[in-house]
Amino acid sequence: MGIEFILDELHTLKDRTLLRECKTIESPQDPYIQINGKSYLSFCSNNYLGLANHLKIKQAAIAAIHQYGWGTGASRLVSGNMTPHQELEKKIAEFKGTRDALLFPTGYMANLGALCALVSKGDIVVGDKLNHASIIDGCRQSGATFRVYPHNNVSQLESLLQRSSMYRRKLVVTDSVFSMDGDTAPLPEIVRIARKYDAIIMVDDAHATGVFGKQGKGMIEHYGLEGKVDVIMGSFSKAIGSIGGFIAGSKDIIDFLKNKARTFIYTTALPPAVCAASLAGLTLIQEDASLLDKLWENIRYLKSQLSKFRNTIAVESPIVPLIVGSAEDAVNLSTKLYENGILIPAIRPPTVSPGTSRLRISLMATHTEGDINRLIDTLKDIGFFTYENARDSSAAKLQSDEKKH
Ligand SMILES: *Cc1c(COP(=O)(O)O)cnc(C)c1O
Repeated sequence: MGIEFILDELHTLKDRTLLRECKTIESPQDPYIQINGKSYLSFCSNNYLGLANHLKIKQAAIAAIHQYGWGTGASRLVSGNMTPHQELEKKIAEFKGTRDALLFPTGYMANLGALCALVSKGDIVVGDKLNHASIIDGCRQSGATFRVYPHNNVSQLESLLQRSSMYRRKLVVTDSVFSMDGDTAPLPEIVRIARKYDAIIMVDDAHATGVFGKQGKGMIEHYGLEGKVDVIMGSFSKAIGSIGGFIAGSKDIIDFLKNKARTFIYTTALPPAVCAASLAGLTLIQEDASLLDKLWENIRYLKSQLSKFRNTIAVESPIVPLIVGSAEDAVNLSTKLYENGILIPAIRPPTVSPGTSRLRISLMATHTEGDINRLIDTLKDIGFFTYENARDSSAAKLQSDEKKH
C-alpha cells in the first residue's frame, strides 16, 4: 500500500517503451550540442532562429542584471513590476498589432490563466483536437463545457457552435501551428465562423511567432488578420530564444486578465533580465531579416531532400513529423540516430495518440545545408525510408505511396 503504485506505474511505462528521461546538455543550445562529452547534431529544439545563444541577447540580459539585479521579489501587482516588464509588454503589443499585452512566467501559464479567466461554468469552449496540452488543461480547468472538433475540421467547428446558443459565452481556441504535427490552422475560416456565432477567438501563436509572416510577427500577420483575433497567445521560449508567455489583445482584455488571471496574479514576476533578453530577441527579428530568410531556406531545402524519398511528408513549418507508428519503433529509430550522433527524441503517447509515435524534426536558421544532408544520409543509413515495421495507418499509407512512387 501507500506509494507502491509509483513503482508499478514506472514499470508499466518502461514495459510499454513510454518511460521518459531527461538528457543533460552540457553546452549552449546550438545546432551542435554536447552530451556526456560527445557532440551531437540536434534537430529537436524550438530555438528556430538560433537566438537562445545569440551574443546580443546575452549582452542584453547581462546589462539588465547590472542595472536591475536578478530577482523581482514579488508578483507584478505587489511590487515586482519593473521597467523591463513594461517595455516588453509595449513591444509585444506593437509586434502583434494590438493595443496592449500581458506577460506570464511561461506560455503554459498564459494559456491556463487566460482560459480560466475568460470562460467558466455556463460557458462553452471549443478547440481543435490537436491543441497544445496547456490549452487543453486550461479548457478543462476553466469549468466551462469543453468540446473538441476533429483536427482543422471547420465544418465540425461550425456545427458545434450552431448547437451552442444556450451557453452564456462561447470561446474558440486553436494553435496556429500545431506543435507535434507542424501543420497550420485555417485561421481565416476559423475567424469567420467564430465571428458568425459571436464567439471569442483565441489563437495560440507559440510556434508562429518569429517564424510566420513577412516580418516574423506570426500567423495573424501571415493571414492579414490584424484586429480580428480577440486573444493572441504566444511564448518567448520558441523562436525568441528566451522564456515567458504573453497574451496580446485590447486594453480591456488585458486589464481584465490583470485582475482575473490567477497564473498572472499569484506568481512572482519574471526577472528583469529575462524581459530584456526577450525584448532583444524581438528587436533582432525586426532588424535582421536574414534570420527568417535562412530558416525558410532550410525548411525548403529539407522539404526538397525528403521528397526524393517520400513525397507524402508534409513540410509546412520548421516542425516536420516523421510518423513511425509504435512507440517501440520510434524509440528504436531515435536510438539509432543517437548512435550516429544525431539527437531527435521519439515523440510518444500521451503527447501524440497511440499508433502515431514519431520522430519530430525541428529546424533552426543556424543549421547548414551540410547538417541537413547529414540528417538525410543518416535516416537513409538506419533504414528509415524503407522502414517496414511501422504499424499505424498513416505510416502504412506512406509506405504504399512510396511503393507506387
Ligand atoms: C510550447 C508551447 C506552449 C507553452 O509555452 P512555454 O512558454 O514553453 O510554457 C503553449 N502552446 C504551444 C502551442 C506550445 O508549443
